[in-house]
Amino acid sequence: MKRGLPNVDVEGLASFIPENEIVQWLEKTKKPTSERVREIIARSLDKNRLEPEEMATLINADSPELAEEIFEGARELKRRIYGNRIVLFAPLYVGNECINKCEYCGFRSDNTEVHRKTLLNDELIAEVEALEDLGHKRLIMVYGEHPKYDAQYIHDSVKEVYKVKKGKGEIRRVNINAAPLDVEGFKTVKEAGIGTYQIFQETYHQETYERVHAAGPKSNFLWRLHGLDRAMKAGIDDLGIGALLGLYDWKFETMALLYHTIHLEEQFNVGPHTISFPRLEPAVGTDIDKITEKYAVSDSDFKRLVAILRLAVPYTGLILTCRETTELRNEMLSFGVSQIDGGSSIGVGSYSEKDPDAFKKSQFLLGDNRSLDEVIRELCDAGFIPSFCTGCYRKGRTGEHFMEFAIPGFVKRFCTPNAVLTFLEYLNDYATGETKEAGLKQIDREMEAMPESKAKDELRERMDQIREGVRDLYF
Ligand code: SAM
Ligand code: SF4
Repeated sequence: MKRGLPNVDVEGLASFIPENEIVQWLEKTKKPTSERVREIIARSLDKNRLEPEEMATLINADSPELAEEIFEGARELKRRIYGNRIVLFAPLYVGNECINKCEYCGFRSDNTEVHRKTLLNDELIAEVEALEDLGHKRLIMVYGEHPKYDAQYIHDSVKEVYKVKKGKGEIRRVNINAAPLDVEGFKTVKEAGIGTYQIFQETYHQETYERVHAAGPKSNFLWRLHGLDRAMKAGIDDLGIGALLGLYDWKFETMALLYHTIHLEEQFNVGPHTISFPRLEPAVGTDIDKITEKYAVSDSDFKRLVAILRLAVPYTGLILTCRETTELRNEMLSFGVSQIDGGSSIGVGSYSEKDPDAFKKSQFLLGDNRSLDEVIRELCDAGFIPSFCTGCYRKGRTGEHFMEFAIPGFVKRFCTPNAVLTFLEYLNDYATGETKEAGLKQIDREMEAMPESKAKDELRERMDQIREGVRDLYF
């Protein structure tokens, strides 16, 4: 049992983000030749994680022709490794009390305009039931940083969520986005059976970090930077990293995400499971325009950086949230994004209670307000197959194993069949008529494209079982 906030002890820790080296790579690789850019794209298509010099070269390949080659490379990589699956999840905000003063966040402690709220147990259950009624199976639970939300609290709330079963609904995987803990705290949270633990560094540029996080435990750059190392030491090998775009130069942040990946690979033999790259959004009581005055990331740079990340870390999942608009999300699915949220509500308690003032309990404003059903229909119309799969995590295929398994053939053997099975469940249990029709067509296309084999026969059998009412089948 681990109670209370961790001791922020950074003695002996150093930054593994070599700021000068990043600047130098970005300088040295200016005006790359087309041949060099093509060589790098080819190395990525051979499923190699790129080196910082190579990523810097892609960042500097900014002519329209080379940028298009990068997009095409990213699309090809996505097709080859991930196929057309898109994994769906929803965020669940548990509490917005916070002792930090992150300048950009509506939850910061000195923001008097936000309505503070922590879900009571029955409210948490009501939220989960509402999410299950939508058809969700994978959640990410989000917490402010507050003595109330210590490791034990996170553990207990995750356990509570797994217990909630409504109709055919259940949550099969809970990921966490919360403050970094100490090793003991991470062990406590791990015991609840979490999926990914996600911590965004926000900005990897230390001076900027210290300026925008003026007070509270989060003001300690090194404590946060080494947060996921502590999670690894506690046995959590499924980790999410991220940078909040708009605080500092996106080129620097993108390079730093690669350095963070390399650090984890070198230290623990496992890179991050996912990378997120949220752009700053308007938040209640917060002047975001002023904060992003210098470093706002344009749509075209945003698309480029995602395509470059896709190429640089071929095996890492890329997450794009409802912060972005529908149009942009749709476009970016083809060149690398592998997970999106759908039908999200980011007010505390706002799935179960329709509050006209929900924005005041929210962290920021969403750019994509479609329902999960609509998101799914549009995914199908665009040729994607929505997936609610939780197979790898439940079969222990995480961390090191995940890397081993993420080899040619893996997606065909496990991911696509599991996507089909979980999607068929969704269509039977939750979809509207129109979405069911679009979804079943998409499943037919998927099955037609699959060569005949014993595995395909087995998949057909399990699909029949699902039609008969059996649930939670996976390979
Ligand atoms: N309190 C924990 C922390 O800060 O790590 C976890 C929850 S925090 C609400 C989750 C993430 O929201 C932050 O890491 C940050 O990247 C993102 N965020 C904060 N303010 C935002 C804004 N105005 N627009 C977009 N994302 C924001
Ligand atoms: Fe608190 Fe996290 Fe928001 Fe910072 S980003 S104010 S720590 S909830």
